[in-house]
Amino acid sequence: MAGSRHEEAAAPRVGVLALQGDFREHLAVLTALGAVAVPVRRPDELAAVSGLVIPGGESTVMDKLSRTFGMAEPLRAAVDAGLPVYGTCAGLIMLADRVVDGPASQHLTGQRTIGGLDVAVRRNAFGGQNESFETDLLVPVVGVPPVHAVFIRAPVVAEVGPLATAIGVLDDGRVVAVEQGNLLGTSFHPEVTGELRFHARFLDKARAWSSR
Ligand code: GLN
Repeated sequence: MAGSRHEEAAAPRVGVLALQGDFREHLAVLTALGAVAVPVRRPDELAAVSGLVIPGGESTVMDKLSRTFGMAEPLRAAVDAGLPVYGTCAGLIMLADRVVDGPASQHLTGQRTIGGLDVAVRRNAFGGQNESFETDLLVPVVGVPPVHAVFIRAPVVAEVGPLATAIGVLDDGRVVAVEQGNLLGTSFHPEVTGELRFHARFLDKARAWSSR
């Protein structure tokens, strides 16, 4: 039967939150890596996957739509239950416990998120001509060569709490990739550059989750 435990281990069924943003690019990357990748817009679709990618886009819109679609609480419950989730850019913002503003990282904006990652993020943290930029970034947990990281109106991780680990840091010390158990977050967009290692890492977690 399709979807037996053995097949599931080889080709995990994972979702991409498809309320808004660049979910199609993530579906393509996950499919290229051999996963069964499906768009997720409803609680029953979320319940049927072993991992979820939250794409880039606009976090305030995504937050609003998640409430409209009755997804805010199911998403929170899924993260609490330990579902592997990978958030890029706006998706990282959605996974952050805190969204802060201004130079003092203590100033909370009150923007609602799913949460789960013990970090504070600052939105649109690269102003002016750096609003969008590319750089090579060493991320030791995914190995060599360095990651060609593309930032598009990207957030920065302003504080890494004790439960989270910084796994990617710019030359100036700013944190742009974090991990905490089954949660992974990057400020940048591997799905637009053919960089597969973050999605592969996420799929490893999804495979382990589906065979738990
Ligand atoms: N600036 C967007 C936000 O705050 C994120 C941009 C992106 O996902 N590329 O949600």
